Amino acid sequence: MKEITSSEFESEVLAGGKVVLDFYSTECPPCEALAPKFENLASLYGKDIKFFKMFRQQNKPLAEKLGVKSSPTLLFFDNGVQLPKTFSGGIKRSDIIHQLDSMLPEERVKEIKMLIKPSVSEYDVIILGAGPGGLTAGLYLCQSKVNTVLVDIALPGGQVSTTHSVSNYPGFIEPQPGYMLSHNMSEQTKQCGTVYKVAVDVTKIDLEKKEVVIDEFETIKAKKIIIATGTSPNLMGVPGEKDLKGKGISYCATCDAKYYGDKEVVVIGGGNSAVEEADFISKFASKITMVHQFDAFTANKQAQEKLFANPKISTLFEHEPRSFVREGDKIITEVENLKTKKISKLVSDGVFVFIGMKPNIELFKDKLELDKWGYIKTNEDMQTSMLGVYAVGDVISKKYRQITTAVADGTIAAIAIAKELD
Ligand SMILES: Cc1cc2nc3c(=O)[nH]c(=O)nc-3n(C[C@H](O)[C@H](O)[C@H](O)COP(=O)(O)OP(=O)(O)OC[C@H]3O[C@@H](n4cnc5c(N)ncnc54)[C@H](O)[C@@H]3O)c2cc1C
Repeated sequence: MKEITSSEFESEVLAGGKVVLDFYSTECPPCEALAPKFENLASLYGKDIKFFKMFRQQNKPLAEKLGVKSSPTLLFFDNGVQLPKTFSGGIKRSDIIHQLDSMLPEERVKEIKMLIKPSVSEYDVIILGAGPGGLTAGLYLCQSKVNTVLVDIALPGGQVSTTHSVSNYPGFIEPQPGYMLSHNMSEQTKQCGTVYKVAVDVTKIDLEKKEVVIDEFETIKAKKIIIATGTSPNLMGVPGEKDLKGKGISYCATCDAKYYGDKEVVVIGGGNSAVEEADFISKFASKITMVHQFDAFTANKQAQEKLFANPKISTLFEHEPRSFVREGDKIITEVENLKTKKISKLVSDGVFVFIGMKPNIELFKDKLELDKWGYIKTNEDMQTSMLGVYAVGDVISKKYRQITTAVADGTIAAIAIAKELD
């Protein structure tokens, strides 16, 4: 892989041909996650497309000129012209392949695909999901000298990485930014020696055989599997939501609140997440209307007191959204008064939805015993209904879903497995 600097940009990148350029940084976990994928793709596509790396910190003016705002960022060029597609953050192999394929004739793409050799690797334990539950299991297994691989469809950290502030994780006097807490957890487990395969596509999971296929061609085999895939936000399921998801309707305050400086926002929900996140959004937005189906919030009392004392936030109890429509820059949320059945319209710049979560079990839901809400049932060792398959964290059937409880589950599963494998 050739590393270039700004001074070589014209001669190497703009001179002609097809080029992919990776702006990377040091101390950048997503860059580390990308590096092996980039190397592998360079060996596959290298005859047709030039692969270059550039150290972002030492080539800042050029990076800024090219619109690079984070590391890693991949830029693509064809005959000296920068293509509109760029990737940054947790970049998936399949996304890069898709872009590279689009730059080549179909026949050539077919020839390149023939070169892909399926690979098989073996570990003692596969952990699916690198949130607090999976990371803790990884740490304990690694410290017990159990050969472990952590597989995640995103970057490590789970939901904590998008939680703006965590004040209830023991050991820290001051509230911690969620991304720092998850970064530290992830680095601790990685430094111990657990192998990471992150920002990958999980193609297939065979729980009976204890096999996981990632990125279509890479089979990982193990003696045990730990499922730590957590939960995802529930959608409201009302007209307009799918179309406006990511285009005015958001499920993550940490990710998107900053785009609503001095703007008006609707927040839907009334549990801890909704109430705490509304408070966070109020640091940016000028006005927040909270819409909640019941006549009182279900969030803890402390969070509610803070919310009611916030002059930017007003509440509409016993109302439910019925549709979302974009009109120019604004989003119109139609809400129904559940008592009077009267429909009214809320005009805002954006909507945040926090109405609970659902377990991430799509790839194995028919294989394991679940509770009536779809969460995986486990015994006290975190073993599921299938021998050798464990589950930890938010994805399991339990009363309280917190970082501490996910971490506890991960600990228990890892100790139980380490003893069994001993
Ligand atoms: C807005 C918000 C604020 C919160 N604030 C707090 C707080 O202040 N304190 C607290 O204790 N808790 C808080 N929580 C709850 C806490 O974040 C969770 O309890 C905790 O993250 C659960 O950890 P986990 O490892 O089980 O799952 P997650 O953190 O959800 O991680 C699951 C991981 O699995 C990956 N994954 C999903 N599907 C697959 C698949 N098929 N294959 C491989 N990987 C997959 C995901 O990408 C993710 O990285 C908050 C939650 C939210 C949503």
